[in-house]
Amino acid sequence: MIDQERIHRYNNTPPGPGPVIYWMQRDQRIMDNRALVYAQKKAIEKRQPLLVVFCLLPEFLDATGLQFQFMLKGLNEVLASLGKKNISLLILKGEPDQIIPELVRRHDAGLLVSDFNPLRIVQGWKNVIMKQLNTAFHEVDAHNIIPARFISKKAEFSAFTLRRKIEKTLDTFIPEEIPQLVNHPFTQQKAWIENDAFLSLLYKPEKDFPSSQSGQNISWIKPGEIAAMGAMKQFICQGIDEYSILRNDPNEPGQSGLSPYLHFGQLSAERIALEAKKSDASTGSKKAFLEELIVRRELADNFCLYNPAYDSFEGFHSWAKSTLNKHRGDIREFLYELPVFELAKTHDPLWNAAQKEMLSTGKMHGFMRMYWAKKILGWTASPEEAMAVAIYLNDKYELDGRDPNGYAGIAWSIGGVHDRPWGERPVFGTIRYMNFQGCRRKFNVDKYIQAWT
Ligand SMILES: Cc1cc2nc3c(=O)[nH]c(=O)nc-3n(C[C@H](O)[C@H](O)[C@H](O)COP(=O)(O)OP(=O)(O)OC[C@H]3O[C@@H](n4cnc5c(N)ncnc54)[C@H](O)[C@@H]3O)c2cc1C
Repeated sequence: MIDQERIHRYNNTPPGPGPVIYWMQRDQRIMDNRALVYAQKKAIEKRQPLLVVFCLLPEFLDATGLQFQFMLKGLNEVLASLGKKNISLLILKGEPDQIIPELVRRHDAGLLVSDFNPLRIVQGWKNVIMKQLNTAFHEVDAHNIIPARFISKKAEFSAFTLRRKIEKTLDTFIPEEIPQLVNHPFTQQKAWIENDAFLSLLYKPEKDFPSSQSGQNISWIKPGEIAAMGAMKQFICQGIDEYSILRNDPNEPGQSGLSPYLHFGQLSAERIALEAKKSDASTGSKKAFLEELIVRRELADNFCLYNPAYDSFEGFHSWAKSTLNKHRGDIREFLYELPVFELAKTHDPLWNAAQKEMLSTGKMHGFMRMYWAKKILGWTASPEEAMAVAIYLNDKYELDGRDPNGYAGIAWSIGGVHDRPWGERPVFGTIRYMNFQGCRRKFNVDKYIQAWT
């Protein structure tokens, strides 16, 4: 029953007799991966090999070598783990809408399975692939605890409206155990050479992918699903208990730090939720954490799935567009161009500290992300420019960037998406405002500035 609700069929073609191909895109892991398990189940039913393919693009939504390196190291682990299960992983360089149909034809595949990603670029590839194929093409949502296409058929207005739906069905979707991949009994015969090229990329990503030139150091986080599982266990044992008290203090390690793993699909949200529920942390902390992990995260997928303008002014609610339009002509106290933001050279030491935290570690604290994006609205000539600057910086420097959470977070901060109107003020209109003094009341601002200056 639950499996059926995870599946979206791109066509009505019944699966044919050939091998099954799983196009791994967003969920780059073998543990707790329902799309991969579904693909294997279908292959075993048909007594066929299972082939996994990953398409590597030299450029993807402003990502830099650092993010590619994190992803490639994770994929290297996937390659080894799949090998132990008698499954081949092909890592092919190029656009999926060209590679996948060609691969399906070359192998005479009986079924193509993919995971779910609401981003426009991925939906676009799938639509092109669908038109080119006569083969059965199924998508399995292995990223959301409650499948995005099942929980809602429209863009939800707020966390409140989605939460109500989630609460009714959550128990059905968090089972006692998650199905796992088994040793595959049918072997893929053809040999491939493309992976050699991939392995050489692993060690020289700066040569082949765009450079951020920021001197980012991400040694605080180890890539790959084994490290992800370790980080999750540590958080569940030691961190989650104080989550409700510490998560909004940027001077404390109060957040889980798991977003890069979730973004690259190296860790399943379902696994985290299962372990968090079992833990003996305080009820308040568990509730607060699951609200972020489930409601907020899945609201972001809902937003991107049903609002194709998720990364622009056009995607805002009409009340937000009209209040921002009304205040277009307001005088901005400060006006900056992109390089001033990028180099953390604004007049505001708190904003600069947040930007520097992101530049140096690849992860800005969650609380500061709101302040950071709202200030960009205040200091650019238009909300359109604010969106462009915030998305560019977020996608380029955050390890977890290029994610529905990022587009929803930025649209919330700048365009009131999932929020409501607040008191009216210059430039912002009725979009919720945040200021330096407000931050000072919440945490030790000087300590944070000092830490990142
Ligand atoms: C302007 C802005 C930009 C953002 N950019 C990104 C981004 O690029 N990538 C990204 O993953 N998140 C983004 N977020 C959401 C949130 O700030 C991060 O998910 C969180 O800080 C990641 O750290 P963590 O894993 O330690 O979080 P924790 O607090 O430990 O939360 C656990 C998980 O819950 C989810 N979560 C937490 N807060 C949110 C939220 N507000 N919205 C949606 N999901 C949430 C994430 O998957 C997170 O990993 C952004 C928020 C804002 C306001």
